[in-house]
Amino acid sequence: KPAPNDLSAFWMPFTANRQFKKAPRMFVSADGMFYKTDDGRDVLDGTAGLWCCNAGHNRPKIVEAIRQQAGELDYAPAFQMGHPKAFELASAVRDMAPEPFEHVFFTNSGSESVETALKIALAYHRARGEGQRTRLIGRERGYHGVNFGGISVGGIVNNRKFFGSLLTGVDHLPATHLPENAMTRGQPEHGAWLAEELEAICTLHGPENIAAVIVEPMAGSTGVLLPPKGYLEKLREICTKHGILLIFDEVITGFGRLGSSFAAEHFGVMPDLITTAKGLTNGVIPMGAVLATAEIHDAFMTGPEHMIELFHGYTYSGNPIASAAGLATLQTYREEGLFERAAELAPYWEDGLHALADCPHVIDIRNMGLIGAIELEPIAGAPTKRAFQAFLNAYDKGCLIRTTGDIIALSPPLIIEKSHIDQLFGTLRDVLTALD
Ligand code: PMP
Repeated sequence: KPAPNDLSAFWMPFTANRQFKKAPRMFVSADGMFYKTDDGRDVLDGTAGLWCCNAGHNRPKIVEAIRQQAGELDYAPAFQMGHPKAFELASAVRDMAPEPFEHVFFTNSGSESVETALKIALAYHRARGEGQRTRLIGRERGYHGVNFGGISVGGIVNNRKFFGSLLTGVDHLPATHLPENAMTRGQPEHGAWLAEELEAICTLHGPENIAAVIVEPMAGSTGVLLPPKGYLEKLREICTKHGILLIFDEVITGFGRLGSSFAAEHFGVMPDLITTAKGLTNGVIPMGAVLATAEIHDAFMTGPEHMIELFHGYTYSGNPIASAAGLATLQTYREEGLFERAAELAPYWEDGLHALADCPHVIDIRNMGLIGAIELEPIAGAPTKRAFQAFLNAYDKGCLIRTTGDIIALSPPLIIEKSHIDQLFGTLRDVLTALD
């Protein structure tokens, strides 16, 4: 048996953590904008955890709500019984959502929200007598979690290469990334035509066989790829024309990141389903939700085969403690006006971010709301190395950033102050200037 303090039992996920294996870097506490490390240092959170702690860390109201709920009702069997907090949270989410979204289905993560939305899309068509609509369309460089549906529609080849039996009948639109848009502030001008590829896929397979298109309105974890102006509108138009459902995966963009509740509002384009997670509970307790229009909900609930189609749910769907955390989170967003705050700070954020354009190795900078990306020129033969070095150096200098490939991604809690923004970009300037 290894010694009790041996750390090898925990199989940490994903690349950055794996590199820490020999000497794991650990956070032991957090407060507001800062993490505390096990060697007693404060680290400014430039990533809201993993794009999730939108209200910052260890917010007393959320902590207290969890404490209270745990002492009152710990669990209610999801398939047999309701409990008040889940209903209250569903109403609160609906109040925050754009108008057509009247129904909320709870899950426990972004990946589960994606699987749920894909199943709802297929069941919707079947309930309406269009059971042949089974094909799904995702997008290259789209990220939709790590479960089978999500990696099938997702556009990251590395995430699917070990798994032969993915969903069949899936096509991918091209990524919304064009070199001529480099260094654009906000939404790029060029590239609405990329959405036309959807017509080409429809022609290839017959639009009557396609169930849904799923895209992140703004691709987050593959490097902050913004939709060109007119792109989402075009996708919406083609989907409507052919009776295809449009799903926005708002696991990152939902709950204020772009300065509005959801990206659908920000871009003024309404999908048929929205997937969420992360910011719903401020990242504190695992929870996700799928938002559906009344039309979809009603077809799903009353279709001729609904007893077969309906079975879907998780043991922990809308569990009381997560629901209490979600309610306190949404209250915090509202009371502190955090989405408005994100919108107000966005120009300051944009200026600070784009001021880094003259740093060595920077080949693109992208931003929207309180999200940003700095793309670095990769070292020949050693992709990801330069950005990962930036990550380590920033950490040593007291700032948490995230990297994906050779892209630095930033998404601070929405409680960030201008002084923190200065600290983050000041540190990044030092880090980038010192890179090989
Ligand atoms: N969809 C998107 C757009 C995401 O960004 C993520 C997580 N980064 C997921 C789905 C998966 O969420 P989870 O890790 O909670 O399963």
